[in-house]
Amino acid sequence: MSRTVEGKCLCGAVSFTAKGPFEKTSACHCSQCARWTGGRYASTTVERARLRIQGEASLKWYASSDHARRGFCACCGSSLFWENPGSGKIDLLLGALTPPVDLEVDYHIFVEGKTDYYRICDGKPQYAEYTNGPQVEPSED
Ligand SMILES: [Zn+2]
Ligand SMILES: [Zn+2]
Repeated sequence: MSRTVEGKCLCGAVSFTAKGPFEKTSACHCSQCARWTGGRYASTTVERARLRIQGEASLKWYASSDHARRGFCACCGSSLFWENPGSGKIDLLLGALTPPVDLEVDYHIFVEGKTDYYRICDGKPQYAEYTNGPQVEPSED
């Protein structure tokens, strides 16, 4: 898919456009993503060169591990981007995109560490951690 998506933070200080193809669209259920979003994390991956950011002065980055940093709006706190610096790719948070998003979560990662206040019911593949590790049987609900 090579269409263009648009997104922005809650206050509008940071906005962006990104041109596909969108390589993978997934939900991460790890505790970092839960705390960072305050909800559920889902993102899609694009080439960094295909992303245009407006209002970059308001965009702040938090290094959440040796290989990841998370971009958010310094004015309103919205979670916007996840990036492995140097990879040439960046993940856009689906909640920041302007609907219709027209992308579906293809699979779930880090379901083993998932918090307990919601269930995953979409029937998509679930992985204990990364997609190169073991899969978890979806529960019947
Ligand atoms: Zn903002
Ligand atoms: Zn995560």
